[in-house]
Order: sequence, then structure tokens, then C-alpha cells
Amino acid sequence: MTAYPHLLAPLDLGHVVLPNRVLMGSMHVGLEEEHGPLRKMAAYFARRAEGGVGLMVTGGVAPNREGWTKPFAAKLSNRYEAWKHRYVTDAVHEAGGRIAMQILHTGRYGYHPLAVAPSALRSPISPFKPRALSQTGIERTLNAFARSAKLAKEAGYDGVEIMGSEGYLIHQFIAARTNHRQDVWGGDFEQRIRFPAEVVRRVRAAVGPEFIVIFRLSMLDLVEEGSEWDEIVRLAGVVQEAGATLLNTGIGWHEARVPTIATLVPRAGFAWVTERLRPHVDIPVITSNRINTPEVAEQVLARGAADMVSLARPLLADPDWVNKAAAKRADEINTCIACNQACLDHIFEGKRVSCLVNPLACHETEWKVHPAMARRRVAVIGAGPAGLACATTAAARGHDVTLYEQQEQIGGQFLLARLIPGKDEFNETLRYFRRRLETTGVTVRLGHQVTVDELIAEGFHAVVVASGVSPRVPKLQGVDHPKVLSYLDVLRGAPVGDRVAILGAGGIGFDVAEFLLTDHRGPPELATYLAEWGIDPEMNVRGGLVEAKVEPSKRTIALLQRSPGKPGKGLGKTTGWIHRAQLGKAGVQMLGGCTYDRVDDEGLHVTVDGEAKLYPVDNVILCAGQQPYDELSERLVEAGVAVKVVGGARDASGLDAKRAISEGMRVASEL
Ligand code: FAD
Ligand code: NAP
Ligand code: SF4
Repeated sequence: MTAYPHLLAPLDLGHVVLPNRVLMGSMHVGLEEEHGPLRKMAAYFARRAEGGVGLMVTGGVAPNREGWTKPFAAKLSNRYEAWKHRYVTDAVHEAGGRIAMQILHTGRYGYHPLAVAPSALRSPISPFKPRALSQTGIERTLNAFARSAKLAKEAGYDGVEIMGSEGYLIHQFIAARTNHRQDVWGGDFEQRIRFPAEVVRRVRAAVGPEFIVIFRLSMLDLVEEGSEWDEIVRLAGVVQEAGATLLNTGIGWHEARVPTIATLVPRAGFAWVTERLRPHVDIPVITSNRINTPEVAEQVLARGAADMVSLARPLLADPDWVNKAAAKRADEINTCIACNQACLDHIFEGKRVSCLVNPLACHETEWKVHPAMARRRVAVIGAGPAGLACATTAAARGHDVTLYEQQEQIGGQFLLARLIPGKDEFNETLRYFRRRLETTGVTVRLGHQVTVDELIAEGFHAVVVASGVSPRVPKLQGVDHPKVLSYLDVLRGAPVGDRVAILGAGGIGFDVAEFLLTDHRGPPELATYLAEWGIDPEMNVRGGLVEAKVEPSKRTIALLQRSPGKPGKGLGKTTGWIHRAQLGKAGVQMLGGCTYDRVDDEGLHVTVDGEAKLYPVDNVILCAGQQPYDELSERLVEAGVAVKVVGGARDASGLDAKRAISEGMRVASEL
């Protein structure tokens, strides 16, 4: 008997039976624009098909040039483009999977001058003002959707997903905020939903009955002038009537100022929205957002909130998610921690997507971890992310690996990161590595500060130093004052007063500020999250937005940096705004351009814009960056030992867990 009977139950769609209830949700990953055959995308999806996913959806593909995300982005409007996709569908089918192509027309979100929309209204997140579609233009666009769907079928896809949410073109027609038309395509709600209804109708007519048509429907807009609940129910009925096979859940416009997938969002934090819609339709509904473990997926399905769960990032993190769940190996799943650092942030930086915890994701054709030619004895020093990734990869390749860690538990800085509110998911990475050390057979020596002499005496063939970082202590008069604490002291439980100045506004400075604002530890709670971000759980209000409830802050905090400008510029592209907003709401003063003069009994003395200023604080907390901590490699090299240095021990500037894990795996792949 499986622990996940609902998750692993087949789903009969009439002409096809899906083997389980997992949909891989659409993500643009940067492989869609490859010239010629889409070989990299084929390998990426085939790998997930091998992992047992029921149905997958590609990243968004435009039906015409106007619908591009950016110039020359993926498009399917002719036979040549369909031929490129054939490589993807063949590879997926050979691996036993099924795949649908998402048709995405960006409308006014298009980052190019050809963008069109129902009305000529620029979006707050694009510099390009769209051209309002004429009636003929609308007719052409509808036909482009139908043509794209037909070509997708010819290219071998099992279905299409019509992107009707997230604030893209179809959604722009639905919402009064973006549809100011006075013709038959605008006006009251019934007129505004003619466009989505017509898209589904024409797509269905183009592909025939035996083809999956998913409609991604916004069930919670999270913007002003969004839809009301009754309108959402009405739209779902119309889309069903028009020929959709499945309804997928969309949450929030891209321009919404509410985090919907970041790590501070509780797991399955929006399943209640899909649950509310499900009784109103007869076709299966898919729920989405922050479902990352089989336990959570099973609970959502068992309570009847949805018929399927959509997982996107969790399948970047572990392509074998479904097979592991089915084989009672859920504790071996490499869980997505919702950090966005290597997936969404990469897209916004114009880079190919990967995954912080699985750097092989989207590099399937270029980075293969092969079995070792000969078994070698390898020592890895330090069980932080770099050392863990290195040791387990080397052992998986067949090497005889010993991992030394001076602390009593594995994790390095992740043991601290997981204490930050909203970073509870980091515990999953530690659970994954703990299990992976067992399954790959690494010998783990905890509480063991290994020395050079010991390593030489052991006669290892290779030593990898992953001993991490030590916090930088800035040159500052009074740095030895009892008021001054390092972030390590604070996170390890040192008492902290009510008035605090934090020196250094990088990732750790922000995290420490959040840690000090609340006593809450552990996973985020749904009611608190909804209240803090002003989401109406009753959905009585248009768009689902109500006034946010801000908890009074426990402390008075100033977060300072020396560089000019607003702190937080170096934070993640897709999460930095959340951290800035959270601290802003809690009244944290964030200030750049500070010269730190001294700390004394009065507090912290700084100079800002040539003016001396005193912060009469109880504590000054140093978050002034890191320095490499490596006391081994030089002497090992002198002794003739083959040494590699990885992670923070090699270079602490710009270090994060993404680089640490990737470097650890890279070195292990080459041993
Ligand atoms: P470390 O994690 O420092 O690990 C080094 C290990 O080596 C330690 O366990 C140490 O005890 C051990 N060691 C040292 N010398 C010896 C010896 N001689 N013998 C045995 N063992 C030894 N990064 C992100 O990407 N995203 C985040 O959101 C994020 N949040 C963070 C929040 C906080 C509060 C902190 C502190 C860090 C955060 N980081 C984050 C940074 C991330 O944790 C580090 O970049 C990463 O841990 C560095 O990995 P590492 O393996 O190089 O070093
Ligand atoms: P960081 O992000 O590089 O920030 C270091 C801070 O220290 C900066 O604000 C810097 O600002 C200040 N600083 C540097 N040298 C200083 C000096 N000599 N004296 C005084 N201040 C100095 O590093 P971090 O905060 O230590 O974080 C470590 C790594 O963990 C980072 O690379 C980060 O990416 C990662 N991390 C990521 C997240 C996340 O959410 N993605 C969260 C936590 C940590 P000024 O020089 O302007 O003063
Ligand atoms: Fe998940 Fe982070 Fe990997 Fe993205 S980079 S898939 S959010 S773990």
C-alpha cells in the first residue's frame, strides 16, 4: 500500500489516462530559444518523463510575434518551428511521458515594441506601451492561437495549455483594469470574457476532441480591479463549455505586490482557492504554488481541494520526485526550497535556469556525472553545502569518501540559514543530504576537526577542502565593546536588546533583521501570511486584496551599509523586493552611505552625508560579509597531497549556496 494513494491514482481524461496526479507546471527555462532542433529542451523534459511525471507543460510559446515575451522568443506559428519541437515530443514519448505545450501571448507584458493589448495601457513592469488591438487584430490573434495549437498537435504534443492568467493577454481582456474597450470585446464582464471563450473554442475546433486542452485560469488576481469570485466561477463555466479538458490554477498578476511562490509562502498556500472553485465545474482542476513534498500533495488531493497538483520548481530540484514517492523513497527527494535563486532569478537576469540544490537541471546534455574510472580514496573537509555536494557526488561515482565535519551535525551555514523566518525549507536540504550520505555510502566523521598530519597519515588519493567561511570583522573603533555581536552570536541565541543597529545590509544583514523582528520560528502559518500580505481568505473583495495587517515590531532596528544608495540592491531579483517590503512595513530604517565611526557606551556613532549621528542602541550586530576559512590546503599542497578547494574556503566574495553546491559537484565530477 502506498503512502500516497491519491497522488498516485490514475486520472482518466477520456481519450487518455494519466498515470498519476502530478502535472509539471510551465516554466520558461531558457532552452526554448535554441537554434535548430530543441535538443537541450528535449533532454531536460525526457529526464523528467523518466522520473514518472504524469503530464508536463512546456514554458510559454507565443502564437505570433506580437505575443513574444521578448524579441525572438519562442514562437510556434509555422511548420519549421513545429519541426524543432518534434525533438522534444519524441524524446518525452520515448521516455514514457506526456507533454503539453503552453501557448502564451504576453500582451502588454511583452518586452518589445510589437506588444499589443486590449487597450493601449502600459504595464507597471514593462517600458513598452502596447498598441491596442483592432477588431481585425483580435480576429488574427484568435486564429494565431488556433494555428499554434494545431501545429503543436502536428509536432507530437499531447495537448496545449492556454495561458489565461498571471496578467498576460487573455487575462488583460478579462480584467476591467486593462480592458477599456467599448466594442464587443470590452465593456461588462460577459463581453470581456468573450476573448478567452473564443480562444478555447477555436483551439478545440483546431485540434479535435482527442487532445488535452488545459486552461490556466486566474482564481485570485491580487490586484485592484481584478475579478470578483462570482466572475471567476462564471469564467470557469464558460471555459469548460468552450471545450477545456482541465483547469489549472493561476494566482496573482505578475505586477501584484504579493509574494505567491517565495519561501515565506506556506506550503500549498493557495490550495484553498482551487478547492473553492472545484465544486462549480465538472472537469478536473489542478492546484498550484508551493507544493513541494508528496505529503503535502497527498493531503491537498485527499481533502478534495483538487484533482491534480502542479509542481514546477520541485521537478527542477528533483526529476525523480514522482518515482521516489512511488517507491517509498520520499526521504530521498531533493526538495525545492523556494529560494528562486537559480530558477526565476536567472530568467530575470537573462540566464539559463538551473536549480540551487540541483545544478544539473537544464544542463542535461552538458553536465553528466559518470561513474569513476577507478575507485579512489577521497577526503572532504567540511559538511557545509559545498562539502556535502562534493562528498555525495564523489561517492555516487564510486569513490571511497570520508567526510570530516568539526561540528556535531552536518550543514555548515545552512544550520543558521534555516533559523531565519521563512527559510524553514532549508531543513529539507539537510534531510536530503543526510539521507544521501547514507545511500551513497560516505563515511562521516562528525565532531572531528581534521588536521593536516591526520590527512597525510591517512594517505588519501585526493583531499577536497570545503571548510567554508569566517565572518569578516570590520576595522571599527570599539569593535570589542560588549554591545557588539556577530551574526553568529545572534543566531546561536545570544541575548539581544530592543534597540539594534546592524552593520552590513547584504543577504545576512537582511536575514538577521527579519530574525530579530519576530519570535516566530518554524514554517510560516497560512493565516499570518494571508493577513500580513492583505489577502482576503473569504474572497469577498474584487481581486482578493484587503488591507494588510502589520504586527507591531518587537524591536527598533537600523540596517546600515557603507555603499551609497538603498540597501538590498544585491538581493535576489525576484525576492529582494519582498525582503525590503517586509522590513519597511516593520519600520526598519534602511540606510546607505554610512561611515561607521565608533561603538561606545552611548551606542553606534556614524557619519551620514557629512553629519555625525548617534544610534543609541543596545547592540551593534556585525553582518559585514565573509572571508575564506582554509587552514589546510597550503600545507597539504606542500606535503604533495592532491588538493582542491571549493565553496567559501576557495573564495568568499559573492559566495552563496548555489555556487557552493555547484562547485562541490563540479569538482567531484572530475575526481
Ligand atoms: P559552510 O557552510 O561554512 O561550511 C563549512 C563547514 O566546514 C562548516 O560546517 C565547518 O564547521 C566545517 N569545517 C571547517 N574547518 C573544518 C575542519 N578543519 N575539519 C572539519 N570541519 C571543518 N545562501 C544562499 O544561497 N541562500 C540563502 O538564502 C542563504 N541564506 C543564508 C542565511 C544565513 C543566516 C547564513 C549564515 C548564510 C546564508 N546563506 C545563504 C549562505 C550559505 O549558507 C553559504 O554560502 C554556504 O553555506 C557556504 O557553503 P560552504 O560549504 O562553502 O561553507
Ligand atoms: P554580502 O551579501 O556580500 O553582504 C556583505 C555586507 O557587508 C554588505 O552589505 C557590505 O556592504 C558589508 N561589508 C563588506 N565589507 C565590509 C567591511 N569591511 N566593513 C563593514 N561592512 C562591510 O554577504 P553576506 O550578507 O555575508 O551574505 C553571504 C552570502 O550569503 C551572500 O553572498 C549572499 O548571497 C548569501 N545569502 C543569500 C541570501 C538570500 O536570500 N539569497 C540570504 C543570506 C545570505 P558595504 O560594503 O556597503 O558596507
Ligand atoms: Fe527551488 Fe531554489 Fe531550485 Fe528554484 S533554485 S527550483 S526555488 S530550490
